[in-house]
Amino acid sequence: MGADPRRAHARAITSGDAATNRGALNNLITLYSKSGRRSEALRVFESIPSPNVVSWTSLISTFHDSTLSFRHFLSMLRHRRRILPNNRTLAALLKTCASLSALSFGLQVHSLARKLGLSSEPFTASALVSFYCKTGFVDHARKVFDEMLDKDEVCFSSMVVGLAQNSRPVEALYYFAEMRRAGVVSTMYSVSGALRAASEMAMFEQCRILHGHTVMTGLDLNVVVGSALIDGYGRCGLVREARAMFDELEMVLNVVGWSTMMSGYAQQGDFKNVIELLGLMQERGMKPDQYSFLAVLTAFYHAGMAEEAERWFGRMKEEYGLEPWLEHYTCLIGAMGKAGELESAETVALTMPFEPDAAVWRALLSTSTYHGKTDIAWKMRDKLLEINPNDDSAYVLLANAFASAGRWDEVKEEWKTMKDKRVRKEGGRSWIEVRGEVHVFLAEDRTHERRDEIYEKLAELMEAIERLGYVPVWNEMLHEVDEKQKREALWYHSEKLALAFGLLSGSTPPGKALRIVKNLRICRDCHEAFKYISRVVDREIIVRDVNRYHTFLNGSCSCGDNW
Ligand code: ZN
Ligand code: ZN
Repeated sequence: MGADPRRAHARAITSGDAATNRGALNNLITLYSKSGRRSEALRVFESIPSPNVVSWTSLISTFHDSTLSFRHFLSMLRHRRRILPNNRTLAALLKTCASLSALSFGLQVHSLARKLGLSSEPFTASALVSFYCKTGFVDHARKVFDEMLDKDEVCFSSMVVGLAQNSRPVEALYYFAEMRRAGVVSTMYSVSGALRAASEMAMFEQCRILHGHTVMTGLDLNVVVGSALIDGYGRCGLVREARAMFDELEMVLNVVGWSTMMSGYAQQGDFKNVIELLGLMQERGMKPDQYSFLAVLTAFYHAGMAEEAERWFGRMKEEYGLEPWLEHYTCLIGAMGKAGELESAETVALTMPFEPDAAVWRALLSTSTYHGKTDIAWKMRDKLLEINPNDDSAYVLLANAFASAGRWDEVKEEWKTMKDKRVRKEGGRSWIEVRGEVHVFLAEDRTHERRDEIYEKLAELMEAIERLGYVPVWNEMLHEVDEKQKREALWYHSEKLALAFGLLSGSTPPGKALRIVKNLRICRDCHEAFKYISRVVDREIIVRDVNRYHTFLNGSCSCGDNW
């Protein structure tokens, strides 16, 4: 842009355009609006003797984040010259609706678009897709999209990004593939959306495929796409690949890009690399922000280093003048809890300037369980249930705490309360990616086409690790079921099924790490079994559970059994 609106305005006045040329004045509104001078934009609009739809649309777009945009639109409709909105007017309005979460107004705009026969035009339809996705009505968005006649790259991008942002990764990737089948060019938005979707499911092969695609289309050098690749690889746990991308783009990356790389390391508990990048970033003249420090604290949290977490938390505030967010406090509290400083962690939770949320109490509950502090665990469980009475993890974690202490009556009591309150335990789900395709398993799943081989493989593994001294961990099981049932229930957990399948499928050659993702926390027994299995099969097994990465190698796990 760069054009100075006041200069342009002066020129329009001297040339006489200001009095006669509506097009010049319409442009002037946009110029003022883009430089944030809204009252000037309004004044120019008012000086137009007979504003047309373009003038009105420019005015409506000027106030895209306030209800004034709606008010101007209504004035336009009521105008004596009866001006009808066009594609751009509707798109501008929908943008406002999305940013204000004005659902009912947006629905009215949609029905107006339908009446005007504009709802399946790419310009309006893309805006509708974005609006519905931003307000969480993803199925409405899909419907608009599916009804659209000529889908261009903007529509596809809106759909892919919208689905990815609403945590519907499978659909996002489906539409991305559709887009390529239709021969529509990919944009930095659609590729970034697809990468986000792939990394949400830790589909590392898919990330690599997308990376290849960006190289071929030349998008890999784009900062937005490059940052999405760093983020994608980082979330998939492929830190080396993320770093390679980072090194290539280092010169053009901003603080966000740097923090993304740091957060990739942080998820692995690799605080050394995080701190190193923090230093390097400042040498390059960049000032770390809250995201950078979130990476620092996350790293120390996963590494269970309370003292370091406290020190950096203090430095962030005092030396860097950055106010911590709730997320920073959560990391600090989690790190203290892990280190066994449960009382101090609780004090921080109760005195911090934020209302503790479920994540805070859950972190304290699980760490007090780990340290066998059932009295604190009890308290934390109540706090957690106060926030969310249907939180199954509250019951499960406390039952674990009692089980570890051998207090079986209380375990039974806890399960009973959970049943009486009709709280259902969320089903465990694990998945593994083979040749770019995701295979999902539920506990005791017998739907996979290779189920017989999978169960055979499991039996074989079980025998092998028992010979090495593996003993099942019953803690998380109901006490009353018989031994055989318990054994089967444990042995057919979703992550074990996924692992057996991974070992069977040829695409992950021996020596290459097996990567499994689980929607919940990995259970104690699977954790124990995987340690032994990593010895038996002599391979690295990486599990991303809801909390962190576990890297099993030679009989031990990177989390040090505390997670
Ligand atoms: Zn398990
Ligand atoms: Zn672990």
